[in-house]
Amino acid sequence: MATKFYSEKNLKFVLNEVHRIGELFKHERFAEYSAESTQLILDTAKGIANGMMFPVFAEMDKKPPEYTGTTIRVHPAVRPFVEKMADGGWINAVMPYDLGGQQMPLTLFNACMFIFAAANYSMSVYPGLTTGALSLIYLFATKELQDIYAPSMVAGKWQGTMALTEPEAGSSLSDVRTTAFPTDKGYYLIKGQKTFISAGEHDAAENIVHLMLARIKGAPAGVKGISLFIVPRHRPGADGKLEFNDVNCTGCYHKMGYRGSPITQLAMGESDDCRGFLLGEANRGLSYMFHMMNEARINVGLGAAAIASAAYYASLEYSRERLQGRIITEKDPAKPQIPIIEHADVRRMLLKQRAIVEGSLSLVVYAGKLVDLISVAEGEEKTRLEMVLEILTPIVKTYPSEMGIVSTSQAIQCLGGYGYSDEFPVEQYMRDARIHPIHEGTTGIQGMDLLGRKVTMKNGAAVKALLGEMNATIAAAKTREGLAPYADELEKSLALWQAVMGAAVQYALKGQIDKFLADASIFLELTGILVIAWQWLLQGIAAQDAAKESSAYGADFLQGKLLTMEYFFKYELPAVYGLEKILGASGAMTVAVKPVHFED
Ligand SMILES: Cc1cc2nc3c(=O)[nH]c(=O)nc-3n(C[C@H](O)[C@H](O)[C@H](O)COP(=O)(O)OP(=O)(O)OC[C@H]3O[C@@H](n4cnc5c(N)ncnc54)[C@H](O)[C@@H]3O)c2cc1C
Repeated sequence: MATKFYSEKNLKFVLNEVHRIGELFKHERFAEYSAESTQLILDTAKGIANGMMFPVFAEMDKKPPEYTGTTIRVHPAVRPFVEKMADGGWINAVMPYDLGGQQMPLTLFNACMFIFAAANYSMSVYPGLTTGALSLIYLFATKELQDIYAPSMVAGKWQGTMALTEPEAGSSLSDVRTTAFPTDKGYYLIKGQKTFISAGEHDAAENIVHLMLARIKGAPAGVKGISLFIVPRHRPGADGKLEFNDVNCTGCYHKMGYRGSPITQLAMGESDDCRGFLLGEANRGLSYMFHMMNEARINVGLGAAAIASAAYYASLEYSRERLQGRIITEKDPAKPQIPIIEHADVRRMLLKQRAIVEGSLSLVVYAGKLVDLISVAEGEEKTRLEMVLEILTPIVKTYPSEMGIVSTSQAIQCLGGYGYSDEFPVEQYMRDARIHPIHEGTTGIQGMDLLGRKVTMKNGAAVKALLGEMNATIAAAKTREGLAPYADELEKSLALWQAVMGAAVQYALKGQIDKFLADASIFLELTGILVIAWQWLLQGIAAQDAAKESSAYGADFLQGKLLTMEYFFKYELPAVYGLEKILGASGAMTVAVKPVHFED
């Protein structure tokens, strides 16, 4: 059975050598942190992951949440885990000191979340959802509401959720129908339905606090009429006791993967007694929710990379042990069989996984660092960093998600027929990974976000900011022996990217928005590969630097890094040429294909 789900060494390498977390500690905001405390925190996360999460990873899949008719019974290990997370201050770790948090850099927090998600993704989302909801409450709720809801959420007693989706409003949130009827009593009466709400009801929490999108009666149609509310399952009554708030759980989905976490259907106001409390200003709900959604999108990329990491280590361990065949030049059947890792094709599959996992992790850590740097930057520098984060967010969400499926599939392939059976964990990893291109905005929606919003925003300011970052890495790599050819290759691919973008924008300039966005997902795929190539070049530089010193990482690890970079540039990056050809040749032909053409 697999024993390892992430590499401590690699996580340290990415944090310390590639993205230099230590630079953050020079800022007053993070001055309490140091290399030593970072290590201590990572070790604590490892202890929780090993002790409470990984041991029930498979069992939570086999015993998924059960709908009882009123609530959802979840695995008994969930409650003590959430309590442990609350006791350790994990739920509000990134919140500022004055709100009772630990002001932990997101870079570090996300590294810990990576460990948790690799150990047991389903379990990791329970406290993670509460953290997201809490941050919205701190940002937009009145002090009075904060005092009512935050303490029990921080204590892990009350579960937070993000309740956006409705049966008719999935990708198209502008179609949210849940209605908030004003009253003169300081609250709104909420009526409507939500669907697919993660942890929207379960018996490991005393109460559920939904951060819910709804439309105030009479509000304008579309996104400009959506407001954000706190809608608790139970509301604190006048005597301080909890009373039912008319939020009914009407069911839970049976999912192909990610089965340890309940995904619920909710009905609000069936007895006309569901109270919702407005956050911030009316009609600004979607923009508020995007605060949470942008970080949630980074979390999705993180979760995807983490699941792929666990599958990679399971397949690596197996490939070292499984004896099958002989080296290609050995014709003597009397010779003993060799471990399959001795076969070049198996090593190719392992390299592919490593390239995806470590490339994605590097990008996710970088995104966390951008959030941290933005929190301490000012003026033009702050705007520049914000632009980089804006344009990278759909990529941070999508590359690990889409490629996580490819990576976990390669893990199964390494195990052959055993990989396809539930005797080994890799089939679960592939099922678990499949959610990520769907939730928090599908890949299609991310593609349109990248090309339709981020590329064009502020006259290309985000593109310019990202190119600035990438070109700085290219310039640094060009001066190094062994890395210059990769820097040249990335530079060439970036020129191709700009040409592709220029061609796509022509459609927009002609007002042909349908054609402009028809192939946005392919543009996103191409951009994702470039961005990961950049992350690999950064890792190549860091590996060379680390090799100069008598490094704790060891020569094999660093050489392995450089070889994985080489693999990425030789086997993965060339895909951009095929994608460019598709984008150039397609002429957005799908626009002309009509539903009737699918008649058989
Ligand atoms: C396990 C799970 C957990 C979830 N957790 C939550 C949660 O906690 N809170 C919450 O609010 N929601 C949650 N969701 C809902 C999730 O965010 C939605 O499923 C997702 O946004 C897609 O919406 P949909 O399912 O209605 O699909 P649809 O919007 O119907 O999309 C179906 C397909 O059509 C494509 N499509 C749709 N519109 C367009 C368009 N305009 N242009 C091009 N293509 C388009 C999509 O890309 C997709 O491929 C969860 C879903 C799942 C499965």
